Amino acid sequence: NSSAQTLEFQAETRQLLQLVIHSIYSNKDIFLRELISNASDALDKLRLESLVDSGLDADTSDLHIVLDVDKDARTLTVRDNGVGMTRDEVVELIGTIAKSGTASLLEKVKQAKDAEAAQNLIGQFGVGFYSAFMVADKVSLRTRRAGTDEGTLWESDGQGTYEISAVDDLPVGTTVTLHLKEADSEDGLADYLAEWKIRAIVKQYSDFIRWPIRMPVERGESEGVAVTEMQTLNSMKALWSKARSEVTEAEYNEFYKQISHDWTDPAQIVHMRSEGTFAYDALLFIPSQAPFDLFARETKRGVQLYVKRVFIMDDCEALMPNYLRFVKGVVDAHDLSLNISREILQHDRHIRGVRRRLVKKVLGTLKDMQAGDAEGYAKLWGQFGRVLKEGLIEDPDNAEALLELISADSTHDATAPTTLREYVERMKDGQDVIYYLTGASRAAVENSPHMEAFLAKGYEVLILTDPVDEVWVEQVSEFGGHRFQSVAKGQVDLDDAEGDGDGDGEKAKREADFAALLPWLAATLGDHVKQARLSSRLTTSAACVVGDADDMTPMLEKMYRAMGQ
Ligand code: ADP
Ligand code: MG
Repeated sequence: NSSAQTLEFQAETRQLLQLVIHSIYSNKDIFLRELISNASDALDKLRLESLVDSGLDADTSDLHIVLDVDKDARTLTVRDNGVGMTRDEVVELIGTIAKSGTASLLEKVKQAKDAEAAQNLIGQFGVGFYSAFMVADKVSLRTRRAGTDEGTLWESDGQGTYEISAVDDLPVGTTVTLHLKEADSEDGLADYLAEWKIRAIVKQYSDFIRWPIRMPVERGESEGVAVTEMQTLNSMKALWSKARSEVTEAEYNEFYKQISHDWTDPAQIVHMRSEGTFAYDALLFIPSQAPFDLFARETKRGVQLYVKRVFIMDDCEALMPNYLRFVKGVVDAHDLSLNISREILQHDRHIRGVRRRLVKKVLGTLKDMQAGDAEGYAKLWGQFGRVLKEGLIEDPDNAEALLELISADSTHDATAPTTLREYVERMKDGQDVIYYLTGASRAAVENSPHMEAFLAKGYEVLILTDPVDEVWVEQVSEFGGHRFQSVAKGQVDLDDAEGDGDGDGEKAKREADFAALLPWLAATLGDHVKQARLSSRLTTSAACVVGDADDMTPMLEKMYRAMGQ
């Protein structure tokens, strides 16, 4: 064919393929989950397109996925009659990895200390289509985009190049054929030609797929000829539309893994149903570990929107604020238009109501966990605390609930963090503000000269070391009626708060003693300082630099400077 072409994989793609081929996954079975989920996505897309564009010439009467094995040829085929791809789409979608964070992922994998750590990284990333190369030494993909006539064949051994050519007479949809590696049949366990094996994988990973996953299976023989019948392997039951009592924990966990590509069970499950004027089902999960790209600029939110079990969109920002981007799950709204756009969703009164309820519910779930499972909560806070604190800036309406969730280091106990409530309960008589100091690390903060007097006089100081801490302490006015006060800013008159009789006479004497020094200091330091003054904040250090009450802290200054401001 004159249109046949050999193209090279993009460099990052090639590296990732090498990792996949050299079996970074311990669990190869998931390749089938990935291919089925792609097929299912393609069916969703075709269904949606045909609903939106009635002119589209596509048959959607029997959307399905077929799995087919050829034992002699040692091939396993995954076929769908979904939306398909054009030639350009194949090159763009299959020849490159467009996901943000690929480069940094590869870097981390290289630095991973052992195979398991590397595996976890890749597992969280999800290599999708390329996972086929774990079990196949050659993959052929045939596809025709709905609404077009030209078919495309893509073939590769995953080594560095792929071939692409035009083919005639393809049905609409995509067929992926895996030429299985010999090695995988040796132990007899990983034989992806075996019916029982395929059944087991589909049941485990793809049972909730909304489309039938069919396979021709042999059922005895009649007059010497094998009889085959098409069987549907999955239940197709959308878990979120079931009653909570009908769903087992194992089913929830499996569903979570399917939608999140996470390897570990979720920490919390939130299953809600609203039957009011705007009916919806929501099934949300709080993961137990943060994804590697939680702080990447383009990290997506984990909530998908469905309308009556038709998939509408991933990453539904209208349903979950950015600071809860780690929450995964599904919201199925019953009375929305399938055509609904992201923009319209953002302003939809009902959707905003749903979002408010979901956020309340997630924060409530975290609070319950904090009260009932301290150890689990501490782990979770370690994973997501930094993100949750963004909520103090992003979502003032829920600031109170978020402040309750905070777990912060403090001078009270070097080994255990404190909640703000606990801090307030320990406050000294006469103390009315919450003292904190921000810095790059616990050690840096503890050794700061600003701390001296506070420690000497027995005041507890919160030690805030996340960059985001700089920002929220400025924005949140108070907790339980107590302001937040940096020990590094403004005038701190501990003597008065202490009320220990370090009277005015003493102060006046000290001022007289240093009367000559202060102007000299101010003149010598010139533009570097605004003022030199006596302070009661130090005990052993001779001097320290203090910001004005409304100055930026050094760390924040650094942050802004780094941002070029
Ligand atoms: P992801 O599914 O996370 O996007 P994949 O590597 O699994 O990543 O797939 C890459 C892209 O290739 C998909 O987003 C989709 O656009 C396209 N694709 C893969 N398989 C199919 C298919 N069976 N039908 C149509 N498009 C597909
Ligand atoms: Mg995929």
